[in-house]
Amino acid sequence: MSANKFVKFFESSTNEISFEDFFKLDFFTNSTPEKSVIKYSGETKSVMKQIRNAIFSNLRINEFFTKRPLYENQDIGPFYQLIRDTTNDFNDNQKAQLILLLHLSKSNADMDIFRTFFHSTCTIKITNGMDQFNQEAKTLFSRLLENDRIQMIIKDVVKEISGSNSNGEFNSIKFTYYRSNIVGLKGFAGINKIYISVNELDRKIGELNDNNLSKKIDLFKLKFTALVLHECTHVILRSSLDDFNISSPKVLEENKNAKKDRSSYVEAGILSVKKLFNAVIDWDESAEKGFNLDYCSEFLEKFLNNEQVEFDLNKADVVISTRVPLLMAVDYSPVEIDCF
Ligand SMILES: [Zn+2]
Repeated sequence: MSANKFVKFFESSTNEISFEDFFKLDFFTNSTPEKSVIKYSGETKSVMKQIRNAIFSNLRINEFFTKRPLYENQDIGPFYQLIRDTTNDFNDNQKAQLILLLHLSKSNADMDIFRTFFHSTCTIKITNGMDQFNQEAKTLFSRLLENDRIQMIIKDVVKEISGSNSNGEFNSIKFTYYRSNIVGLKGFAGINKIYISVNELDRKIGELNDNNLSKKIDLFKLKFTALVLHECTHVILRSSLDDFNISSPKVLEENKNAKKDRSSYVEAGILSVKKLFNAVIDWDESAEKGFNLDYCSEFLEKFLNNEQVEFDLNKADVVISTRVPLLMAVDYSPVEIDCF
């Protein structure tokens, strides 16, 4: 309902959209503001319908959003069109776009980021991927998801955050590539699916000379592994709790057994990546500066072969990411914010 209300509200507006006014409509004031549960196990069409509405119920209770609720129509236009065009049905691109906006609606983004996503989420288009590495990606993806330690890492994080045992099915997760104009958006978690940005994956790899094919493949594998581990953690956490609309900080807050001395800041995907690499590594910066690619690739290969190896950050000589990521199921580190 709230999505259809928004379509009408936008159409009656002139230059600016005030979400403050929008949330003052009777439709909202007659209902308690709360985060809706979206059953993960539901039928896709009904889940997507709920996602479309939950974007607005989430925004309404998101204090990072409501403190700056005024947007120009032209910035919101593409967002409005997506909501309008998905009134009755949706295609695969629109599905990905709505899912991304759901994550955004729960995030601690600032106004620039909200604006960027409202404006540019419509540029997300599913694509076949990077021809050069499609076989590698397929093989690596199954090896990762079948790997006992990967599964263990994710199950541990689910337990740590929610207090519940994970019952997510690793073998039902698929991956899909997309392209988009959102610079810095590496990927996000869907329903039994993870979305991976070809633009971001290809960054730095594309700059390597073709004579260095094996180096290219090695760098590809490292970036791909970190991203898959990160996003699959969100998938398993959400499916284990049978709610597509959860966010890890909230779940942690409600988990009475969670270690409260930890920082209030927690991101499930990052916890997993840290368990594998002992840090969040900026692979692009590492490639830029030069790092011990041979060591990292050897480590990954041994790890995938179930050897007991520990990642040694000193030997790897990598650049550790210092960016503070947003609290949501999107791996987004704005290198530069581009609005198209
Ligand atoms: Zn994440």
